[in-house]
Amino acid sequence: MGKTFDIGIESLAGGTAVRKAAAVREPRTAPLPLPLRGAPKTALRSMRGAGVAVEAAGKSFFIETFGCQMNDHDSEKVAGVLQGRGYWPVETPAQADLVLYNTCSIREKAAQKVFARLGDWKTLSDGKIIGVLGCLAQQEGEEIFERAPWVSLVCGSASYRKLPELIDQLESGGRRVTGLDLDTDETFETEITRRDRLLSAYITIIEGCDYACAYCVVPRTRGPERSRTSESVLAEARRLADAGYTEIQLLGQTVNSYRDPGPRGWRFVDLLRAVADVPGIRRVRFTTSHPNDFTREIVEAIETVPAICNHVHLPVQSGSDRILKAMRRTYTRGEYLEKISWMREGKRDISITSDIIVGFPGETAEDFEESMSLLDAAQYDAIFSFKYSPRPNTSAKDLPDAIPEDEKSRRLAILNERQRQIQTARNETLVGETMQVLTDGHHPARGVWGGRTSCNRLVNFTSTRDALLGEYVQVKILRASANLVGGEHVE
Ligand code: SF4
Repeated sequence: MGKTFDIGIESLAGGTAVRKAAAVREPRTAPLPLPLRGAPKTALRSMRGAGVAVEAAGKSFFIETFGCQMNDHDSEKVAGVLQGRGYWPVETPAQADLVLYNTCSIREKAAQKVFARLGDWKTLSDGKIIGVLGCLAQQEGEEIFERAPWVSLVCGSASYRKLPELIDQLESGGRRVTGLDLDTDETFETEITRRDRLLSAYITIIEGCDYACAYCVVPRTRGPERSRTSESVLAEARRLADAGYTEIQLLGQTVNSYRDPGPRGWRFVDLLRAVADVPGIRRVRFTTSHPNDFTREIVEAIETVPAICNHVHLPVQSGSDRILKAMRRTYTRGEYLEKISWMREGKRDISITSDIIVGFPGETAEDFEESMSLLDAAQYDAIFSFKYSPRPNTSAKDLPDAIPEDEKSRRLAILNERQRQIQTARNETLVGETMQVLTDGHHPARGVWGGRTSCNRLVNFTSTRDALLGEYVQVKILRASANLVGGEHVE
């Protein structure tokens, strides 16, 4: 692979081809004025749109992303591939020659949404190339052509490295092009990556998954686990630091299962420490960790390296050993809680978050109580909670003892209320503390700034200063609620 480049957002705002070409090669030097919290996607789209008007002569593309951070970053890389081939991003699908949906199939609703989007093009797709990427593409495969014959490209994430070839086929008149091969040991590395986030940059270090959780489609949609070399990851981290990024987020479906295929043979913790050591990098996040591969060494790294963020997302899924076994989660409640205790008893306060599923087939009232008691034991700082829904190509799909929907909803509400109380109490302990916040939003009308702490808490604060966007500031916490803490900027 040739030299690689990252396109920062400002490179997309300028508009001319000359500006674009320069921006690909020039480092990002200073943060741009940032959009308000909650509005970045719109703001970024309009920034890209501003650049596109003068590029109208080229081929244009629009990509909409569903699902997780891995998908967000895959879209950044796909956009880089396209921009490297002379395609320009546009603000709406109607303006685009190539419309791509990067999809998620983790829940039925996400899949339905994509088919609704595809339905929009039934009579309007004339001359456009419509493509489906990602997990739904892999899951449904050529069936997508049956349901939406106006689609020309179906490509799963394990085949993204073949995208240039697939685009060649489309450009030379290919009608139906697919990339659905799952049998690969390669990762998706791009010569150009568009960067849609202004202050924090993603680096995927491991793709796919070798676990086989009973409810999860990922091993069937993203393929087997494969890691990038530490050399390649570190080169990307250095490039991002040179471009002005100070925060990096290492991504992987099971990020801590990372194994360097290069001569160093590093484990995840070695790579984590090395990325944190890159000059200019002030914060390194990582997600998602699998409890099985979560080691004391990772906790020690967080405790001893300030640049490694003190936040761990460690999905438990259930507090019941019986259900964990049925889910094929490969650890017990006791083993999981032991790992939580390493963090809770450590030298640095580590924020812990989790995913929990309620209503897995066969989950009894007692099993659910075990999940409730696990919340009390773990004292999470936040959770993502879900009602179980059966997904195609998973071993849990046809399990007996399905839980009625209203019972799942009831359990979910009880769980969320208990977690809300825990979160509020935990956030209240921060009142009076001073925390470092990376400022990423501003609401001038309300006179409020926003940002995140190293432990990933959302903080709203007031300040007598202006131009704080992109700055690391000290904030004294004065109030707390379940999802937010508030305070004032102190020098
Ligand atoms: S570890 Fe389990 S839940 Fe996570 S991606 Fe792999 S199979 Fe899915």
